[in-house]
Amino acid sequence: MLSGTYPHRHGIIANEWRDAITGAPEYCTGDTTATYIGHKTQPLDGTSPKNLMVETVGDVLRRADPRAKVIGISGKDRGAILPAGKTGTAYMYMTQTGFFASSTFYMPQHPAWVTAFNAAKPADRWFKKEWKALLPDEAYARSLPDRQAWYGQKAAALPMLMGAPSDEAPGSAYYSQLLRSPYADQLTLDFARAAIAGEGLGKDNVPDILSISLSGHDYINHRFSAESRFSHDHLLQLDRMLQDFFKHLDATVGRDNYIATLTADHGFMPAPEFTAQQGLRSGRIVGNQLLTRVNSGLEEEFGAGKWVSFSGSSLLLNKQLITQQRVDPDEVAEEARALLMEEPGIAAAYTRRELAAGSRIDGPFFGAMQRAWHVDVSGDVQYVLKPYWMFQSSSSIATHGSPYPYDTNVPILAWGPRWVKPGRVDERVEVVDIAPTVASWLGVAPPATSEGKPLPLPTK
Ligand SMILES: [Zn+2]
Repeated sequence: MLSGTYPHRHGIIANEWRDAITGAPEYCTGDTTATYIGHKTQPLDGTSPKNLMVETVGDVLRRADPRAKVIGISGKDRGAILPAGKTGTAYMYMTQTGFFASSTFYMPQHPAWVTAFNAAKPADRWFKKEWKALLPDEAYARSLPDRQAWYGQKAAALPMLMGAPSDEAPGSAYYSQLLRSPYADQLTLDFARAAIAGEGLGKDNVPDILSISLSGHDYINHRFSAESRFSHDHLLQLDRMLQDFFKHLDATVGRDNYIATLTADHGFMPAPEFTAQQGLRSGRIVGNQLLTRVNSGLEEEFGAGKWVSFSGSSLLLNKQLITQQRVDPDEVAEEARALLMEEPGIAAAYTRRELAAGSRIDGPFFGAMQRAWHVDVSGDVQYVLKPYWMFQSSSSIATHGSPYPYDTNVPILAWGPRWVKPGRVDERVEVVDIAPTVASWLGVAPPATSEGKPLPLPTK
């Protein structure tokens, strides 16, 4: 959103992938040289923008004027770190404690306003409270009733208790549950208010950037699907939280002193069981079974060994085995693609040779796959699932990450009466257009690798 680029340039191809040479697991914001301040840190935890290969609007702004502050805040480490770019500061929600923390990549210790925010234990105020539906039942006629079989827990319904009945005090299970409720977003916005006050954002005549990533809707949709009443109610509650937040901005920063842009990183697929009920072909692919079949097919052709593994949305060739067996990696990739295409649920797959060639191919979504594939980071066979298909997962009943309209159509809203006139844009625009637009408002150049164009917004 703030780099104006696709993964083929910025290198963040997924949440997780494997090192293309060694096959070792990688995490998008992983960096073992940094740790969370005051919190335990695991090797693949997200602590820095090391893997981000490009600059963001905030980096350009801070280079133009180092007094500018750029702050990223989110329920998820990656939602805070990546928009903060290389030179901003990120704070993320910690499910160990319900606190917000930064990492040693950014600072040795928290400023006083962060310490004070956490000391009040604001996450604890929903413990043993119920998440209740905001509106009467008839307001949710467009959503699925609670307790659908595929929710996994028979009792999944509103009102929902925050914390387990047996819990005596808030713990990590409760703090994680808050992410799948409206309350982590409330906390995130509360922390954003504290950041505005603590850092004096918008106080002087040097512009600042505050990036707030509200993670709740994604967690809820993964857990209960976008057509659930949980998702519907969450969005209603978030809408009211945003109203309060904008009122707060008007009162503190001043209505004519900020521009707000609102967008989303993706849409969502419906749960496959729901689309199946509507007569559509859909399903869940068991990833490790698919991988076993592809590897068995490759063994028949090229000899014993584990030839491929998953990496992001691609199959990664085992480079050591290829060297050892003296086979042509392009031939292995071709065969892996052929085997993959025999699997149910796979719509298209492209090899490294095709993706790196930069042109050709009329196949479905080839251009989108090229932009989603990075030559140094991605694997060797990039694939697209058919609509309404997903990989089975213990944590998600629905997901995103496809090129289909239910997934790629997202809102882009801009508000700032001094700069943006009321109106709508009917031509096709993209999320990569946001960064050059923000850059033009700030009077700085777009990020160097930006491939968007300024949004054709109505202006005064
Ligand atoms: Zn997600």
